[in-house]
Amino acid sequence: MSTTRCDVLVVGLGVFGSATTWAVAEKGATVLAVDTHGPTHRYGSSHGESRIFRRAYREGAHYLPLLNRAHELWSELEQMHGDPLLVRSGGVFIGTTSSGVVENSRRTAEAGGVPYELWAAPELAEHFPWFTVDSGMSALYEPGAYGILATRARLAMLDAAVRRNAVLRFGTEVADVRPDRSGATVRLSSGEEISCGSVVMAAGPMMRGPLPTGLGGLLEPVRVPVYWFRPAPSVTTRGFPVFLYEAPEGGVVYGLPEWGEEGPLVKIGFHDLQHLPGEATESAAPEVPRHFRKEIEVAVARMLTGIQPEAVRWRTCFYTMTPDEDFVIDRVPGSPALVRISACSGHGFKFAPSVGECAAELALGETPGIDPARFSAARFAATPQVG
Ligand SMILES: Cc1cc2nc3c(=O)[nH]c(=O)nc-3n(C[C@H](O)[C@H](O)[C@H](O)COP(=O)(O)OP(=O)(O)OC[C@H]3O[C@@H](n4cnc5c(N)ncnc54)[C@H](O)[C@@H]3O)c2cc1C
Repeated sequence: MSTTRCDVLVVGLGVFGSATTWAVAEKGATVLAVDTHGPTHRYGSSHGESRIFRRAYREGAHYLPLLNRAHELWSELEQMHGDPLLVRSGGVFIGTTSSGVVENSRRTAEAGGVPYELWAAPELAEHFPWFTVDSGMSALYEPGAYGILATRARLAMLDAAVRRNAVLRFGTEVADVRPDRSGATVRLSSGEEISCGSVVMAAGPMMRGPLPTGLGGLLEPVRVPVYWFRPAPSVTTRGFPVFLYEAPEGGVVYGLPEWGEEGPLVKIGFHDLQHLPGEATESAAPEVPRHFRKEIEVAVARMLTGIQPEAVRWRTCFYTMTPDEDFVIDRVPGSPALVRISACSGHGFKFAPSVGECAAELALGETPGIDPARFSAARFAATPQVG
């Protein structure tokens, strides 16, 4: 492929851009994908060892088609890759019986025929004795939920893409994207110009930056802290499920086991609390405030008997929020050659293969196998959008 012309240029090699690049390459089209940073950098949203996949989706049944397709593609990727990419741990979602985490997850599971069990507090204690729950609480168990080995899986997508002749360019920024009669012309920070049939913008928190996404006034990038805890000495994390825990007084905590060089750890964070204002252009991540650490340690001490309640490390990562916390998957109005995806609102990783496939179909002028209309930014028509 000449680097001066390609069918699709992908901006950003986070998990959405990587998945899009893989999908375009699988279709036999020429694709060039560009990222400002290196393949495992920590300045965006996709770094780290693990992410949760679940289909009993408290966020709503409208996600089911994308979830089902993503599940198929994660399994295909793992098979193709040869080494494990998914940790089939099951998932447990805990709260009061009427909480969003239990009741909304149950509704989506019912709507989608997702296998699940509803447990009262004593049954939860029987299966997973590490959680502390009040007697009025319950848990939805999804045996098919799992952990994704995040960085390994993203790099596996890039391997698959390169095997299909995708060209990847790291350490170069896309400085300008201009629609034209043959699609678009993209200028890199090096000054090089590339002509392409279409551009998929998957720039994570930088979707609010200088790219012509038309989403500038809509998106809010926030930094969220994530923490690692050690399991109690008596606990083996081998049987530890991925989990969500909604406290009766509010606040959703997520967690999942990890096995890194430091031995077994459980990664834990608040999903909907501790959001710090953030700009992706900042060179250094801010310190996690001490009172945030205290707050998560108190929550862990109260919710989890099987965890030592002192965090052993912590870091921040970006969520790119939309006003309704649903994604954006569409074309830029008035510029059919420009596709925009992402705005993950902190729950996008699990969807990457199906969102990437959808973006590839839009970019190549195909009818998407899953209609993304529900995720068009046109739903915010009354909200001012700044280019
Ligand atoms: C702590 C944390 C926990 C999470 N847990 C889960 C979970 O359990 N399950 C789940 O499904 N999701 C989870 N998520 C959400 C998920 O990780 C994100 O939705 C996803 O990673 C978003 O990926 P992205 O590709 O949109 O963005 P990013 O990963 O930020 O990628 C964007 C890329 O674009 C590049 N870029 C930007 N501008 C340019 C430019 N002009 N030129 C070239 N390159 C550019 C950047 O360098 C970056 O690499 C979590 C997120 C966080 C932060």
